[in-house]
Amino acid sequence: MPHPRTSSVAAIAAAGIAAAIAAVPACAQAGDGARPIAIAIHGGAGVIEPARMTAAKAASYRAGLEAALDAGYAVLERGGSALDAVTAAVRMLEDDPQFNAGRGAVLNHEGDAELDAAVMDGTGPRAGAVAAVRHVKNPVDLARLVMEKSNHVLLVAGGAEDFALEHGVVLVPRSYFRTEARERELEEERRTPAAGAAKGSRGTVGAVALDRGGHLAAATSTGGLSNKLPGRVGDTPLIGAGTYASTDCAVSGTGQGEYFIRGVIAYDICAVAQYTHATLAAAVHEVIQERLKRAGGEGGAIALDAAGNIVMDFNSVGMFRGARDSRGRREVAMYRDGKGQAP
Ligand code: ASP
Repeated sequence: MPHPRTSSVAAIAAAGIAAAIAAVPACAQAGDGARPIAIAIHGGAGVIEPARMTAAKAASYRAGLEAALDAGYAVLERGGSALDAVTAAVRMLEDDPQFNAGRGAVLNHEGDAELDAAVMDGTGPRAGAVAAVRHVKNPVDLARLVMEKSNHVLLVAGGAEDFALEHGVVLVPRSYFRTEARERELEEERRTPAAGAAKGSRGTVGAVALDRGGHLAAATSTGGLSNKLPGRVGDTPLIGAGTYASTDCAVSGTGQGEYFIRGVIAYDICAVAQYTHATLAAAVHEVIQERLKRAGGEGGAIALDAAGNIVMDFNSVGMFRGARDSRGRREVAMYRDGKGQAP
């Protein structure tokens, strides 16, 4: 009797082969001989329930996503690397207080932000990450410095901040992260901790990109979960859990990090695609809609392959997201039906 998983993987493989055949003419349609470039971003899977989303808020989130998407795409358009593109997009989202990263990071149980970030360059591969930093304005830049200027992959807390000081990274007082909105949110969640934990955070940010040279990269940055215990580290800075890139596949995830860590979700998406020859869409579906959901985890991921196929999928109520590529796609959306506006 075949294990049920066997048949589902076989089905993915069959679908993958069919879709791979179908995908050939689609690439050829680009017709200009140039290699594709593409970028996708997310602003977190913990979006506001559609009923509570106002038109003004929706417009503001859209503007933030579009600015980051276009900033990352501009890097690729002028021949920049995928690594530069994801760093530029994530840095911009970190500076936007609407998102749970950098300036808008959610606060831990003691009222401080503790930030996690990672970058991975599929070429090499190379990776860098930081966790539980409290004074770094743009953790994605520090993660990149760890990758480029140290022999390590992950630096945490005080050690990461000493490294930041040595390399002239911008440090800020802890008050920089204590925005009114996040303090209010923390108060709410302190009153109803169960609701807070279940809801998770809002607006972790991430990006995946493919450059003209065919290189893939991924970056993710977050404040983690609101009301988390001090010292808690999520999936974002753990290579393979919340962030992953290879020569074939790049992924940035968002959702309840503990589930992403246990399921090694970002790597699993790339592994399913590689080992079963599934399309990227089928691999993301299998991992996010089947495996993650079966485990009880809520969240989503953006993924990109070396042919420039972008997949953005989630099992939560929505996921702030955007995609742009050299085939003419440019979109920003929040909920399942692709809507970016309040219904
Ligand atoms: N994955 C992040 C964490 O658990 C949170 C999120 O994506 O919303 O730290």
